Amino acid sequence: MKVLENIKWNDWHWQSSNSYIDGNSYVHGIDNYFKMKISPYYYNLIDSNDVNCPIKKQAIPSDHELKCMGNEYKKYGIDIHDSLAEENLSPVANLVHRYPDRVLMIVTNNCFTFCRFCTRKRIMSEQDTNFNVNNALDYISANKNIRDVLISGGDPLTLEDEQLEEIICKLRKIQHVKIIRIGTRAPVVMPMRITNKLVNILKKYHPIWINTHFNHPKEITEESAKVCRKIIDAGIPLGNQSVLLRGVNDNIDILKELFLKLAENRVRPYYLYQCDLGSGIDHFRTKVKSGIDLIRGLRQHISGLAIPTYVIDAPNGGGKIAVNPDYIIDKTREKIVLQNSKGNLYVYPEIIENEKEKSG
Ligand SMILES: *Cc1c(COP(=O)(O)O)cnc(C)c1O
Repeated sequence: MKVLENIKWNDWHWQSSNSYIDGNSYVHGIDNYFKMKISPYYYNLIDSNDVNCPIKKQAIPSDHELKCMGNEYKKYGIDIHDSLAEENLSPVANLVHRYPDRVLMIVTNNCFTFCRFCTRKRIMSEQDTNFNVNNALDYISANKNIRDVLISGGDPLTLEDEQLEEIICKLRKIQHVKIIRIGTRAPVVMPMRITNKLVNILKKYHPIWINTHFNHPKEITEESAKVCRKIIDAGIPLGNQSVLLRGVNDNIDILKELFLKLAENRVRPYYLYQCDLGSGIDHFRTKVKSGIDLIRGLRQHISGLAIPTYVIDAPNGGGKIAVNPDYIIDKTREKIVLQNSKGNLYVYPEIIENEKEKSG
């Protein structure tokens, strides 16, 4: 019996169909913004003795979600339902084209677990609507500048292997598309989705890159670490995009442990996002200054390999903008004055390019 239970537990289809779902919404009457969905695996990581459990905060709805409906952002012209203005930058359905050389393809609106801080709540649904990406593929075919396609959603790995392979195969046939990236939280919330079969399919279409989404060291379990290794061993570089979340990971020791553990598992911390603006997610936002201070603190203590770029995805479609501690204290024609993370000052003389500059 135990063996049978294990077989089921390790089957991602079983996990999917046994997810904890509250589809009727947490609060009636407010469209689908408060839907809950949690995979049994992720639910199992919740520590019921810890009121501040970081897994619980990311997955279980709370009253705080009712507080922010976004009226306060209207004066900046920000639409709280689509604060990144993705719909404006969508030339065809299910595709966002914000940068000249790369696009984001939305291939599903389903996820294994709905993150409470999701920035794409406007499209999330546990119903598997059949996404038509043919127009998106045609658009990519016709645009020779596009060399990098990010397959996202929702979580693309909620699709069946065959559906996913069909999309990747069509993309691979487009000569100017060099890199195919997949954004997925499966290693964190549904590690059993990373089957040998899936990995063998993906590696046929190299170069494939994957970015996943760990936010807290508690999410790095034996199972999740194992599937990260499986992905990387298939030659797929694996990056991680975390979101800075108040009360979950806005703490130097937690971030240090998270990023070091990721690096130890060969997962490269890629971005640390300032929390986006969105309906019902304000309670997760930290001050930008806290983020900057955290990055400054990390720089002193851990290897550059384990430090992600801290970015704000600018509201209204500005794209990702790196925000860094200000290390340049003074700048003149002949030198800059730098301050390291300990606070010590150092002079770096500038190159003097020509006679005119020399004579001042
Ligand atoms: C984040 C994002 C990308 C990829 O950006 P990188 O900085 O290259 O990782 C591409 N398109 C859209 C719309 C994005 O939001």
